[in-house]
Amino acid sequence: MAPEQETGLIDTFGRRITYVRLSVTDRCDLRCRYCMAEEMRFLPKKDVLSFEEIEALAGMFIARGVRRIRLTGGEPLVRHDIGHLIARLGARIGNGLDELTMTTNGTRLARFAGDLHAAGIRRVNVSLDSRDPDRFRYITRHGDLSQVLAGIEAAAAAGLAVKINMVALKGLNEDEIAPMLLWCAGQGHDLTLIETMPMGEVEEDRTDHYLPLDAVKQRLADHFDLVPSLQRTGGPARYYEVGGIRLGLITPLTDNFCTGCNRIRVAATGTVYGCLGHDQKVELRELLRGGGAEAVNQALDRLMAGKPKGHDFMIGAPLPAVARHMSVTGG
Ligand code: SAM
Repeated sequence: MAPEQETGLIDTFGRRITYVRLSVTDRCDLRCRYCMAEEMRFLPKKDVLSFEEIEALAGMFIARGVRRIRLTGGEPLVRHDIGHLIARLGARIGNGLDELTMTTNGTRLARFAGDLHAAGIRRVNVSLDSRDPDRFRYITRHGDLSQVLAGIEAAAAAGLAVKINMVALKGLNEDEIAPMLLWCAGQGHDLTLIETMPMGEVEEDRTDHYLPLDAVKQRLADHFDLVPSLQRTGGPARYYEVGGIRLGLITPLTDNFCTGCNRIRVAATGTVYGCLGHDQKVELRELLRGGGAEAVNQALDRLMAGKPKGHDFMIGAPLPAVARHMSVTGG
């Protein structure tokens, strides 16, 4: 029996966890309206895992069968000296870890693309909700589109495959979805469209901008040949081949695909969530600081015992499904 079959992270529904999304900071240099409040309060440094703690934790996950780690945030590239952590984690690729990836808003990607590639990262997800500078600034509350476009260009030039993540927002970027698909096809970037999820209080009413992707898909199908793909990543996305790229639709509201879930999410504080849409969690920071791999492993077993079957997001519900913002776990 392979070691991970004896020690693997398997929940009560028989789902094996092989993928961890690891938030390295809750801070971000943008304030996307659907994601964060304008005046977010960020964590004091002492509450955030150190690089040594993150590396130790990654090692424990790998020992239990995790094969892919995605660094996220907040914005992972705003964390001071992030290049060091990326290099240290990159050294695990081929040594227990199959893949290290990152989700970023792209503002600092021009500076870091070469470091990411040198560390062994080969794919990045870049969030881009609009290619119109004014709209981009409005949605992100102050972002500079040119920085992100330069970051995407630098990533591609460094040899990183880029996937664009676009949150579909009624009345805000609805008319840019087809052009974004054409642009991505022209650039060779995959594109994933995401429904807004009710996570954390923001100043706005998300219902105003909620755009169900089943309707978007219908409209795209009028103009593009969407060929369903059999690919599954264990996440809540369905994929289509179109114009030489892959189009993903993340539809946690209109449809959910939790039965194949293979992932857990670590907040920058060391809190680990079993599900994006639930509060079920274990706290690992103090266990890590106490130096106890055994205690951490026991906590991960508790997480597996209680991992929810699926989420039940509902747009228009009086309260968000979970009080935490997406920036806590990075999606
Ligand atoms: N800063 C990085 C970035 O911008 O990609 C990583 C963190 S960000 C929280 C990860 C992704 O979550 C982004 O694509 C963002 O658009 C998306 N996101 C944030 N809040 C969301 C929400 N309430 N519903 C759906 N997607 C959301």
